[in-house]
Amino acid sequence: MDLQLENKKPDEELVFLVGREGRVEELSVTMEKYPVPIYKIVEVEADVMEFIRKLQRQSSKIRLETLATTTEGRKVPLLVIGDPVPSSPADLKFDDRAVVYFQANIHAGEVEGKEAALMLARDILQGKTPNYLDRLVVLIVPLFNADGNEKMSPNNRSDQKGPEKGVGIRYNGQNLDLNRDGMKLETPEVVGLVQNALIRWDPVFFLDAHTHNGSYHQEPVTWTWVLNPNGDPAILDFMADRLWPAVEKLMREQYGTLTIPHGDFMDVRNPEKGWVPLGPQPRYLSNYVGLRNRLSVLNENYPYADFETRVRGCYNLLRSFLDFCQSNRDEIVALVAEADRKSVERAANPNESGTFITEYDWQPIEQRFDILGYEMEVTDTGGPWPRVRPTEQKKTYTNVPYYARYTAKRTVRFPMGYFIAVQDPSVIEKIRRHGITVERLTEPAKLEVEAFSVTEITGSERPNQGHYLTTVKGEYSLEEKEFPAGTFYVSTAQPLANLAAYLLEPESDDGLMVWNTFDRYLASQWSREPREHPVYKLYRSANLVKETVE
Ligand SMILES: [Zn+2]
Repeated sequence: MDLQLENKKPDEELVFLVGREGRVEELSVTMEKYPVPIYKIVEVEADVMEFIRKLQRQSSKIRLETLATTTEGRKVPLLVIGDPVPSSPADLKFDDRAVVYFQANIHAGEVEGKEAALMLARDILQGKTPNYLDRLVVLIVPLFNADGNEKMSPNNRSDQKGPEKGVGIRYNGQNLDLNRDGMKLETPEVVGLVQNALIRWDPVFFLDAHTHNGSYHQEPVTWTWVLNPNGDPAILDFMADRLWPAVEKLMREQYGTLTIPHGDFMDVRNPEKGWVPLGPQPRYLSNYVGLRNRLSVLNENYPYADFETRVRGCYNLLRSFLDFCQSNRDEIVALVAEADRKSVERAANPNESGTFITEYDWQPIEQRFDILGYEMEVTDTGGPWPRVRPTEQKKTYTNVPYYARYTAKRTVRFPMGYFIAVQDPSVIEKIRRHGITVERLTEPAKLEVEAFSVTEITGSERPNQGHYLTTVKGEYSLEEKEFPAGTFYVSTAQPLANLAAYLLEPESDDGLMVWNTFDRYLASQWSREPREHPVYKLYRSANLVKETVE
C-alpha cells in the first residue's frame, strides 16, 4: 500500500508470532454410556508464553497474572509492567502512577494487536521507549481470546492481507462474540476482564484492538472513543475534543502513521455525506468501560493494509496513547475521579432531575476531517447492500462529518435506587459481577416507588449470542408498595451508577431485560395479563434498614 507518509519503524525487528499452530491433544474418557472428549491443553499459544518468559528473564519490571481461564482450559495471561512492578494494586495506594490497559485478539482473526502489544512490552522493558513507567503502570493482555486463537487457518478472514499462515476465529470456546458480552457477562474472558483487570487494577485508560473489514481508504489505523451518552459527559467530551486531536497529531507527526476515526461511509454513492462508527451499546467493551467512568478506545486497523503495516501502525497507536497518558496523567486521574464523585452525588441529591437515555438520536461532532480514499465502483445487488470495489484511482473525500455524537431522543427519570423484588440469586449475581454494590433490606419498607407495567413483550426473530432478545412496552406509574425484609436494593449513590441504571432500567437497550434475565417473571404460564417489571424505582430519600450483600 502506497502511503503518503512513511511508517516509522520501531528500534527492533518485528516479533511475528502469528502463524504457528498450537497443539491440542484429545483424550477420550469413556463414561458409563457416553464417550466424553476431554481436551488437555498441551500448548497454550506456546510462542506467546515463551516470549513473555524471555522478557521475564531479561527484566524484573514485569509480572504475570491470569486474567481468566477459558472454557477450553487455557489461561489468559495478563502482563503487569511497572518500575517497580507492583505486587498487587494495593502497592499503588501511596504513589501517583496511573494504570493503563491494552488488550488484543478479542477477535482472534484480528491479530496485529497481539504483535504490537508484545513489541511494546519488550521495548518498554528494554528501555527503548520514553520512560512511561515513571508515571504509568502498563497492563497488557496480548491474547484475550485464547481459544479462538488456537483455531488458526488460512481460510479465516481470507480477504485480510496477511499474516500468510492464517489467523484464529472470531468466537471464544462457547461460540460467543466476546465483544458483545459487555453487559450480560456470560464468558469467562469478559468476566475475567471485569474482575481481574477493571475492578482489581482500575485502569484509567482501556484499549481493545481489532481489525475492521469495511470501507476502503488509505489510512492503516482507525480508532474511536466512548460513544454511549449515558456515560459521564466530561469524559466523552475530553475524548472527542482533547484525546482525538492530540493522538491524531502524535501519530502523524511523531510516528508517521495516518489515522482517521473508526467508521464506514454512510452512503458509498455519496461518501462525503458522513462517516459512521460502531453503535453506542455497552455490549461493545469500549462503550462498556466508558459507562464505568473510564477513558476507553476501540482500535480497528485496516484489513487491506499489509500485515507489517498494520502491526507497526497499531504499535504506534499504543505508543501515542502512552505518550498522551504520560503527559496528561494528572488531568486524566482527576477527570475519572470527578466522574465517580458526580455519580455518587447525583443520587444523594434527590432534587436533581437527572435522566437516563432510552433512545438516541445521532449527529456529527463539530470537527470534520478528510478521508484519503479511492474512487469506488458501486454495483446494485438487488439486496440492501450494494457491492463496492475500490479502483486504483485515489480520491480524497473532504470535510466529512463524523456521526459520533449520540444524544437523547427519549429519557426517563434517574432514580435514587432500584428495588429488585425477586429472590433470585442468579439475578443478583449478574449485577454484582460488575462490581456494583447490592444491598438487602433487613426490615420491611413501605414507600412510594415507580412501577413499570409491561403491556407487550416481544422476542427477537433471530437468536443473537444465544438469546432471543426481549423488548418490552409498558407504562410507568407511582404506587405505594411494601417490600419485605430480604428485598434487594441497588442504590445509585455509587461510582457505577450509570452502569447499574443501564442494567436495570426496563427500557434500556442493553440491560438485563434485553438479555432475558427477567423473562420468566414477565410472562406467566397461563395468563395473558400484563405483569409488573420486578424492578421498582425510588425517587425520594428514605431511611432503609439494610445490609450489603457480600
Ligand atoms: Zn473485531
